[in-house]
Amino acid sequence: MKWDAWGDPALAKELSADIKGLLAAALGVTGDATPGPAADEVLLHPSRITADDLKALAAAVGETNVSAADADRLPRAGGKSTPDLLRRRSRAPQDAPDAVVLPGDEQEIAAVLALCAERRIAVVPFGGGTSVVGGLDPERGGLTAVISLDLRRLDRLHDLDETSGEAVLGAGLTGPAAEALLAERGYELGHYPQSFRYATLGGFAATRSSGQDSAGHGRFDEMVRGLRVVTPAGVLDLGRAPASAAGPDLRELFLGSEGTLGVITAVRLRVHPLPAVKAYEAWSLPDFATGSAALRAVEQAGTGPTVIRLSDEAETMVNLAMTEQIGGAPAVTGCLAVTVFEGTAEQVATRHRLTRDTLLAAGATSLGEAPARAWEHGRFNAPYLRDSLLSAGALCETLETAASWSRLPRLRTAVTEALTAALPGALVLCHVSHVYPTGASLYFTVVAALGEDPLARWAAAKRAAGDTIVTAGGTITHHHAVGADHRPWMSDEIGELGVRILRAVKAELDPAGILNPGKLIP
Ligand SMILES: Cc1cc2nc3c(=O)[nH]c(=O)nc-3n(C[C@H](O)[C@H](O)[C@H](O)COP(=O)(O)OP(=O)(O)OC[C@H]3O[C@@H](n4cnc5c(N)ncnc54)[C@H](O)[C@@H]3O)c2cc1C
Repeated sequence: MKWDAWGDPALAKELSADIKGLLAAALGVTGDATPGPAADEVLLHPSRITADDLKALAAAVGETNVSAADADRLPRAGGKSTPDLLRRRSRAPQDAPDAVVLPGDEQEIAAVLALCAERRIAVVPFGGGTSVVGGLDPERGGLTAVISLDLRRLDRLHDLDETSGEAVLGAGLTGPAAEALLAERGYELGHYPQSFRYATLGGFAATRSSGQDSAGHGRFDEMVRGLRVVTPAGVLDLGRAPASAAGPDLRELFLGSEGTLGVITAVRLRVHPLPAVKAYEAWSLPDFATGSAALRAVEQAGTGPTVIRLSDEAETMVNLAMTEQIGGAPAVTGCLAVTVFEGTAEQVATRHRLTRDTLLAAGATSLGEAPARAWEHGRFNAPYLRDSLLSAGALCETLETAASWSRLPRLRTAVTEALTAALPGALVLCHVSHVYPTGASLYFTVVAALGEDPLARWAAAKRAAGDTIVTAGGTITHHHAVGADHRPWMSDEIGELGVRILRAVKAELDPAGILNPGKLIP
C-alpha cells in the first residue's frame, strides 16, 4: 500500500486530457495540484518514545518487531480518507505514531498492553490502515507517547469447521489472504468492501464493515459468530453457540469498538461453499425515486439478489464520462441499477427470475448483463481515480448514511443540498449501496475544486452534511465507522446516557485509557 495514496502504484492512472477539460469546465479546476514530498522528504515530528520504552517493548515482542524509524512510522501516520491524503502531501511537519510494534500472538499483545498501561503510552490498533474516519490518528490523549500496534502477524486460518460452516481466522489477515486460505478448501467469506484488497478481518469487525454484496453477505458484523479480544483487563472469548439467550450479546460491544475497548485477535466467521453459478443483469430506471422504490420492492419481497445497487442520475451520467478511467459500467440514461445473483444453478435461476419480475413491474428496463459485469470488474478501481483527481487539482471525498425507506428521499435531497451549499458548484453523486427490508444506505461522492485550503473546505462540507444527516433522521455512519471524524455526532446518535454507558465499559476494560484515545467515544 502506498503511504500517500491508494493501493498498488502500478495501478495508478493519469486522467485523460478530456477529463481534465471537463473538470476545468464543470468545476473550475484550474490546474494540477502542487506535488507532495517524496517519502524521504516528509518531515515527521520527532518520536517521543524513550529508549527504555523501546527496550521494554522489544522484550515483549522481539527486537525485530519494534521500530521508531521514520520509514516505519510514516505508513502508519493515519488512514486513507481524502483529508489523510492531503495531510500526507503537506511539506509541514506531520504527526505519526512514536513507534510501531508488531506482536505475533495474544500473549505478546497482553504484554504490550500491560507495559503501555504502566508507562502511560497510548496504543492505536492498526489493521490494513484503510480507515476513512480518522480511526488511526496518532492521538496521545494526554499520555507520554503513542504506538501503532500493527496486527499483520496474526495471519492464520486457525480452524475450518465444515460441518458447521464456520472458520476461525486471525484478525490480521487481509481480505484476499483470508479468501485464498478458505478457497483452498472450497469455501469463501464473500465480504467485498471496496477496500477489500488491503483491509483486515480485525478491521472489518472493529468498524462493522459492509461489503459490496449489498443484499447478500453484506455486513461483516452479521458473519461474526465469535470473537477473541485482548483488553488491558483480560482476555474475552465471546460467542459460544449459534444463538443464545444468555443475556446481552457482548460480541456487539466489540463489533464497532474501533480499537477503543480491546484488540480483536481472531474472529469466528460464517463461511459458505464457493458459489457454483453467478448471473448478472443491469437495469435502467427512469429516475431515482422510481429506482429506490424498485429496490425496496425487491428487498421486501425477499427475491434474493446477492448484489443490488442503484446510482442516481448524476452518478449514472458521470459513470459515462469516467468509464474509460475506472473500467466501470458503460453509459445508460436515467439511473443505473446493478444486480448479481449467486448460488446453485437452480437457486440463481429462481432468484434471478423473481428479481427480474419485481424490477420490471416497478418500471425497470433491462440493459443485459454487460454493465453489471463491467461494474464488478472495475469495482476496486475507483479509489485510484480519487488520487488522480487530487493530483489534477480536484477534491474528491465520500460519505455515507442509512435511514428507513420512508425517510430516504428527503435525506438524499437534504444531504445533497447541504453539500452543494457548502461547496458551491460541487458535483454531488449518490447511490443506494445496501438495502434492508426497512431501509437502505446512501453513499455520496463529492467532487469539487481543491481551492486554497481544501482541508478547511472539506471540513465545512462534512460538518454541514453530518448536521443534516442527524436532523433528517439518518445514522451518522452506515459502514465507515466513527473514528475521530464522526465522534462529534455520537451524542446525537446514542444519547448522553448511551455515551455514559460506553465510557463506563471503557473505564472497566481500559482504566488507564491507553486504547485509541480520541476515537468513537466522546
Ligand atoms: C478506498 C476505500 C474504500 C473503502 N470501502 C469500504 C467499503 O466498501 N465498506 C466499508 O465498510 N468500509 C470501507 N472503507 C473503510 C475501511 O476500509 C473499513 O473501515 C475497514 O473495515 C477498515 O479495516 P482495516 O483493516 O484497514 O482497519 P484500520 O483502518 O487499520 O483500522 C480501523 C479501525 O479499527 C481499529 N482496528 C483495526 N484492527 C483492529 C483489531 N484487530 N482490533 C481492534 N481494533 C482494530 C483501528 O484502531 C481503527 O480504529 C473504505 C476505505 C477506503 C480507503
